[in-house]
Amino acid sequence: MAQKGKIFVVGFGPGDFKHITTRAVEALQQSDMIIGYKTYVELIQDLVNAKSIISTGMTEEVSRAQEAVRQAEAGSIVSVISSGDAGVYGMAGLVYEVLIELGWTEATGIEVEIVPGISAINSCASLLGAPIMHDACTISLSDHLTPWNLIAKRVEAAAMADFVIALYNPKSGRRTRQIVEAQRILLEYRSPDTPVGLVKSAYRDRQEVTMTTLAEMLEHDIGMLTTVIIGNSSTFFYDNKMITPRGYQRKYTLGEEKQPLRPHQRLREENEPWAMNQETGTARNDFAADPNAGRFNKPSIAATPKPKKTALEMATAALTMVKGTGAVKVKPKLVQQKIESIFELSVSPGVANKFFTPQQMIALAEVVGEDGTMEYTPDHQIHLKIPTTEPERITERLQEVGFLLAPIGDVLSLKACDFCYGEKADSIPYAEEIQAKLGGMSLPKTLNIGFNGCGMACYRAVFDDIGIVYRKSKFDVFIGAKPVGRTAHAAQPVVEGLEPEQLIPLITDIIEEYNANAHPNERLFKYFKRVKKILHFTYQDMSSKIKVEPAPCGD
Ligand code: SAH
Repeated sequence: MAQKGKIFVVGFGPGDFKHITTRAVEALQQSDMIIGYKTYVELIQDLVNAKSIISTGMTEEVSRAQEAVRQAEAGSIVSVISSGDAGVYGMAGLVYEVLIELGWTEATGIEVEIVPGISAINSCASLLGAPIMHDACTISLSDHLTPWNLIAKRVEAAAMADFVIALYNPKSGRRTRQIVEAQRILLEYRSPDTPVGLVKSAYRDRQEVTMTTLAEMLEHDIGMLTTVIIGNSSTFFYDNKMITPRGYQRKYTLGEEKQPLRPHQRLREENEPWAMNQETGTARNDFAADPNAGRFNKPSIAATPKPKKTALEMATAALTMVKGTGAVKVKPKLVQQKIESIFELSVSPGVANKFFTPQQMIALAEVVGEDGTMEYTPDHQIHLKIPTTEPERITERLQEVGFLLAPIGDVLSLKACDFCYGEKADSIPYAEEIQAKLGGMSLPKTLNIGFNGCGMACYRAVFDDIGIVYRKSKFDVFIGAKPVGRTAHAAQPVVEGLEPEQLIPLITDIIEEYNANAHPNERLFKYFKRVKKILHFTYQDMSSKIKVEPAPCGD
């Protein structure tokens, strides 16, 4: 019996040899015969040693697939080639269709191997920057085999749903109207400033990369070998690159390695208000799209009780609603819309001051507005969350009325007693100096300094990471309280009767040593326990030696 042949359907990537996979090269080299469109066969000719090469015209795809099957059934190893990926508007599906027509099954028929390649959406995106970071789709504008009305519907659906869109086959010598019509549909849903990237002949000799906008894209050359990538509502240009952020919500704080939300926190409902509820299977209505309300250039629509939103509105609402810091440090040169994020900070009237003035209350109400929140915390602070595009204006306004501002997160905060409203005020300047020098400093983990103005210690500074107690005109210093868990303990006394002028240098040294050597997320007590020494202070096990009785169980 004659040896059975094999068909490889090979995607050879954008066109240069560096972006072809090893498996694709192997397949081409193992083949007795290469079948493909002539331009493509020429592109890969140097890689193959096949005895026979069949190159055909663009439109003879079916005969190419049939020939491949015939040759393989006669015992040859055949590679059918496509540019990019053979499964994306390529030859893979067609080869299977021809085989199925002949009753082929994997068990009984010739062997078929589909070799994946880098599709144009990926190669073109890489030349533009990172435009397809978020949900993206491909749409071919070729209406040779697909009704135009269906294509138009897909363009509209993708536009409405805020997909990044890669348009394949945007234009040819005879098909010139499709791209004009696609632009018209897109402009109904997206801003004219939406970034658009045009990539022609990616990774080939005549490569051209153009950055433009949805309004102006038709003023540039678009042809058979161009892929058009349309950004979503948050895509922007920066330094000649087209970039789509990873999500609509800034759950990540750029410029910091450690992110404000840990993976398990991200999944909580308050952090993802738009997500599907796992019990009810529904999502909040604020994030529901209404196809008719979705148009960018909205015709007047009949009033509905609660209008649903456009993709852009949903994205903006998402940004506005979520919790998490808004510290976005990228300042793109051209952003099509200002990104609103939640600015979080806490305010208090002062380190040694617990009185609010009417002006401060007015300023608070003003900056928080209708959409923000203020929450009184156990730390004697008011925690603000305010959706805004201009955090600087908020901080300016609050500072004007004398508020002490502190960032949220893993920072140093100083918490103090009320100094008996000034009666025992000798130590206030030291507390204020620590706040001025170290307050808000970013650290491996939250660090609280508790400060007591007298020996009564009514603030209970010894339960903080660093406790400072002013007693008989001198300071006692404690470090490393463990406030939670079954081995919770107070801080270890390390210095007694410290001269006031030595306080700030000592605290600064402790903090600097901890900051330089602690692991990310390692609280001061853990660090102290691990390294056993901070400055010249030796760690002592402060956890209770009392044996904890197991809790009685229910039965
Ligand atoms: N199978 C191919 C797509 C074939 S359809 C793939 O996965 O990439 C042909 C269309 O692909 C072209 O009209 C163009 O839009 C896109 N295309 C293919 N190669 C390209 C390249 N090197 N540069 C830019 N676009 C390309």
